[in-house]
Amino acid sequence: MLSDMTPKDLDNFAEGILNGLKLSDDDLRELVSINEKEELEKLHYVSRKVRDHFFRNKVFLYSFVYFSTYCKNKCAFCYYRKPHDIERYRLGVQEVRSICQVLKGENIHMVDLTMGEDPYFHDSPDRFIDIVKTVKSELDLPIMISPGVMDNEVLKELHENGANFLALYQETHDRNLYQKLRTGQSFDDRVNTRKFAKSIGYCVEDGILTGFGEDTESTIRSLRGMEENCPDMVRVMTFVPQEGTPLEGVLQKPNISELKILSIMRLMFPDRLIPASLDLEGIDGMVQRLNAGANVVTSIIPSNSSLEGVVNYDRHLDERDRDPKSVVRRLKGMGMEPAPHSDFNRMLGVVT
Ligand code: SF4
Repeated sequence: MLSDMTPKDLDNFAEGILNGLKLSDDDLRELVSINEKEELEKLHYVSRKVRDHFFRNKVFLYSFVYFSTYCKNKCAFCYYRKPHDIERYRLGVQEVRSICQVLKGENIHMVDLTMGEDPYFHDSPDRFIDIVKTVKSELDLPIMISPGVMDNEVLKELHENGANFLALYQETHDRNLYQKLRTGQSFDDRVNTRKFAKSIGYCVEDGILTGFGEDTESTIRSLRGMEENCPDMVRVMTFVPQEGTPLEGVLQKPNISELKILSIMRLMFPDRLIPASLDLEGIDGMVQRLNAGANVVTSIIPSNSSLEGVVNYDRHLDERDRDPKSVVRRLKGMGMEPAPHSDFNRMLGVVT
């Protein structure tokens, strides 16, 4: 498909996407099967053209607050799964308030409040609502919540108290693979929670994992599965084997598949949010993902922070280099810059 395309053909392809061209399953099959470097570069080029049409050189920045690393689940890929005997933390309102104070005045568009499915908050949701209220009153920014599957009534209350975005990753839309990854959890509950959130006014994020157990067909199923629910943000992340988990011994694959899927997502979701996470390969990885068509930087944490990430490539490093200033500096080096807050609020439908 792309191998014989001239630069003009690639521009026409991007133009076609902007004019509403939809990729067929056969198109996806060809794109997912790309292995040649030159073809990949062409794919990234088309994705950047599509992204630049909607977002120019502007990027959105999300700060990441992983406020509880306790979890009742046992996802096979996750370091924080319940059976793993590790040191955990859970922040209270005052600690979250202190983090907000450090973030004040930084170039951040949204705060992502993430936790495992911690019974301390899930059984007494008012505690979580207090955290959301605190962040809202301290920073007055859009808030993304990533709490796992929550009750509809609680989601409603969280929304009324300032939560704008729900991140809830399926990891895969292939039901068999899902059971191997999100062991013992309901596939449909996750889908329905996103649907409900969307119906009451949340923006929603779905995400998939690449590098463990998938083939071309299950990747297509995942891409189509994400598409069905009209997410506002879509993410793909490389599987990274974590010590102390059942998948510890699985060999990590290079990030090529992630970059390829990211570009394909840009062609399927031209004007949506697609993140470049700092959690996998730090700031150099961010550059690669932006060059593949991403338009958001996620997992930003204050420079002096000991907060955890999810994959946490830098768990054992002294210098973490994922603070807002380092990110903005690197963006400038790429000819990119943080978007005006008004652009982000418009995307979210937030009235300011
Ligand atoms: S991925 Fe989330 S839900 Fe699954 S074990 Fe980890 S923290 Fe818990």
